[in-house]
Order: sequence, then C-alpha cells, then structure tokens
Amino acid sequence: MKKLIYLDNAATTKTSEEVVAAMLPYFTEYYGNPSSVYEFASESKKAVSNARRTIAETLGAQENEIYFTAGGSEADNWALKATAEAYQSKGKHIITTKIEHHAILHTAEYLEKRGFEITYIGVDENGVVKVDELEKAIRPDTILISVMFANNEIGTIQPIKEIGEIAKKHGVLFHTDAVQAYGQLPINVDELHIDMLSSSGHKLNGPKGIGFLYIRKGVKIRSFVHGGAQERKRRAGTENVPGIVGYGKAAEIAAKTMKERTAKEIELRDHLIDRVLAEVPYTRLNGHRTNRLPNNANFSFQFVEGESLLILLDNNGICASSGSACTSGSLDPSHVLLAIGLPHEIAHGSLRLTLSAETTMEDIDFVVDCIKQIIERLRSMSPLYEDFVKKNQK
Ligand SMILES: *Cc1c(COP(=O)(O)O)cnc(C)c1O
Repeated sequence: MKKLIYLDNAATTKTSEEVVAAMLPYFTEYYGNPSSVYEFASESKKAVSNARRTIAETLGAQENEIYFTAGGSEADNWALKATAEAYQSKGKHIITTKIEHHAILHTAEYLEKRGFEITYIGVDENGVVKVDELEKAIRPDTILISVMFANNEIGTIQPIKEIGEIAKKHGVLFHTDAVQAYGQLPINVDELHIDMLSSSGHKLNGPKGIGFLYIRKGVKIRSFVHGGAQERKRRAGTENVPGIVGYGKAAEIAAKTMKERTAKEIELRDHLIDRVLAEVPYTRLNGHRTNRLPNNANFSFQFVEGESLLILLDNNGICASSGSACTSGSLDPSHVLLAIGLPHEIAHGSLRLTLSAETTMEDIDFVVDCIKQIIERLRSMSPLYEDFVKKNQK
C-alpha cells in the first residue's frame, strides 16, 4: 500500500493511542452513570471530574467553569445563542468577524433572523482582524464580541489579548472560538480577558464528538440543553464519559508536549513554505508569514483549480484540503480567502496543508516535489496559463 501522508490536521486528527487506551476502560469496565449513587458509579464520576480539572488547569481556569459539549460547533452555538437570549434586555448587538468558522457565522445569521444585529469586522491582507474597526463598532447595546483565536483555513493568530482588553474596557462579553488554537498555543483566560472559549477534542488528537465551552464564573449564560442536572444544570444529558476521559488525556498530552512539538512543526512548516514559494512560480502564501498556527500552510496557485490539485495529490497518497472541508463540494470560494482580498479565480486555486507531530521532513519534501509536478501539469493544460505565458514573452 502507498504511504499515507496526512496533511489535513485542521479538519481532524488521529486519536492518539494513549488517548484510546485511557478511554477503553470507561466503555466496558467503568460504565456506570456518573449521576448514580452507588460506589461503582463513582469511578465514572471521578474520571469526569479529573478530566475537567486537567482541562481547567491548561487554561488557568476553575474546574466549575468548564462545560462539556458534543464538540466545537455546539460550544460556538451555545456561546452565541445563550448570550443573546440572556443579555437581550441590555441590547441586541453582537460583533464578530468575516473569517469565523461557519459554526459562528451561521449561528450569527440565525440570530439576525431573530432580531439581533451583527457587525462583521473585516481583516487585513494577512487575515488579522482590524482591531480599530472592532473598537469603533462597539455601541451601548453591544452584548458580545466573538473573535476566533486562530483561523482554521489560513492559520492567522488574532490579537486576542488586545481584543480582550477592549471588551473588558467597554464592559462587553468576549467569546473566542479556540478550536484550532487550543493545544497548539498557550492560553490563559485571565491574562487574555476571555469570558467564554470553545474547543473540540478531535482537533488535538482526542476523540470526535466531545468539546467544551469555558464560561467565566459570573457570566449569566442560559442552559443549552434542558433535562437532567449535568454540567451544573446548564447542559443536560448523561456525560460522554469515555469522550471526556479521552479529551482530558489529549489536553494533558497537548499541554505537556506543546513547546517541543510546535517548535518542530514550525521548522517543517517554514521549510514547506520556503520551498513552495521558491520553487513554484505564481504562488502566494495566504495568512500571516510568521504569526500563524505552527502547523498551517495555505497557498494560492495561479491558473490552477484547487479541486484538481487535491485529486492529483490524493493519487499520491497525500490528504490535503482546499479552503476548508465545509466549503469543498460547493463552488463558492472560501469566505476567508475572499475576506483577505483574493479575487475569486485566485481563491479557487488554493491549498491548505496542516501538519501533525508525526509529519517528517521527508514527507514535506515528497509533498513539495509532488506539488511542483502537479502544478506544472495542470498549468500545461490551462488555456489561461498559455495566454499568460505568451503575453509575457512579448
Ligand atoms: C473544527 C472547527 C469547529 C467545529 O468543531 P466540531 O467539533 O467539528 O464541531 C469550530 N471552529 C473551528 C475554528 C474549527 O476549526
């Protein structure tokens, strides 16, 4: 079998063996319901509480500020919808950005249909949110600012501390979608003035279908799922014990290995970026050159269709993405690439490669060699490219 080179870690990651091993006993051995009173169930209850504490510690938060959800999308939905409902007597204005994940953008659209007003702040050519514009957009009826920590497509890291300070100064709640950042970047919710933070297990080698919303003590956010008294009555439903245990383990490993792992990823990422920019003509890097996620590279190749590029990479055993997994299959170019000012035809020729701790220098060199050949082949079939070359020769 051809070697698989998986460079789509922003879409999802492999659940690590250690995580799976930590989860297994909670399926068949300690399967008790954490809410039950007998001794047997206390093992499950303890495991949930340990995972909650581990995760809280990674953020400088309190254990009772971590609320488990079924993933990042649910946490994002909860943060926006419940804040909107709970604070609507203060106002109905929410500020977010043009480059958020659809879990935020589509929730914002849902709220717009229900009488809330949303301001979408733009970004500069590197994908950095325009902080001046954001501060100017704050009004007396603004109840929430939601800005993602780092972008899932182009990797740009946002000035979260600055935004947190602005939110605090104006007495507005601050939520951040940290699904891509958590486990890759150090985060302290107090230092950054974050009131709510969304995260998802499967983006950091944990299981799928588990996430959490950090809610700062004192934020009067409504419950999201009604039913039993789980998650301090704010999110009912029997706890996903194996998922929570797995997420706790993944968070622990991510925190422990962060420095070394990300240093290695940055080295590989920069090698990838340098080689592609040097060896493939008419190419641009999307996102900030240095202030980006350690494992993210995103390119636009002129005169190339992203989808054809993906198929030919797949033929070589390389898993990658164009734009984001959610937008593939549709003909609209990524909203993020349009927000940084790319024309449609350039946005269409985009490729996202996201590395993991298992990626090697050999993998990267092989991938760059493939990209070079494939781009050359695709361009040789492009009438646009032919015209372009002819014009340039005159
Ligand atoms: C993946 C992702 C989500 C959604 O998380 P799920 O756990 O898949 O629901 C939300 N925001 C960002 C930035 C993401 O990358």
